[in-house]
Amino acid sequence: MAEDTLFSQIIRGDIPSDQVYQDELVTAFRDISPQAPTHILIVPNKVIPTINDVTEEDEPVLGHLFIIAAKIAKEQGIADDGYRLIVNCNRHGGQEVFHLHMHLVGGHPLGPMLMR
Ligand code: AMP
Repeated sequence: MAEDTLFSQIIRGDIPSDQVYQDELVTAFRDISPQAPTHILIVPNKVIPTINDVTEEDEPVLGHLFIIAAKIAKEQGIADDGYRLIVNCNRHGGQEVFHLHMHLVGGHPLGPMLMR
């Protein structure tokens, strides 16, 4: 059986979420603890635990994450002003959920890229 994660349960609808998009490859829903006016997670439906686990087989879904991020940013009205896409990896990256996901954050100026 494939590994189950919090996000797999959200993708299946077993745990409620504020979903903004879903297709056969990815699901997007609002972050439960938003760090900006717009904060949406875009998640491959397939469990890939971290960026370290990606394989060439994952290339289509990883490319699709960007296509859908751009589409959602446009739909949310933040594309022209700009936004940030973040993928955290493991402990130093601050990853909390081990199901690869892209954060789409925007809606106001985001400041410096990294806290020092
Ligand atoms: P990361 O630190 O990159 O692994 O990000 C995990 C993100 O998942 C955090 O921003 C959390 O706020 C978010 N999160 C955790 N549980 C939920 C949930 N049930 N619904 C939506 N977002 C969640």
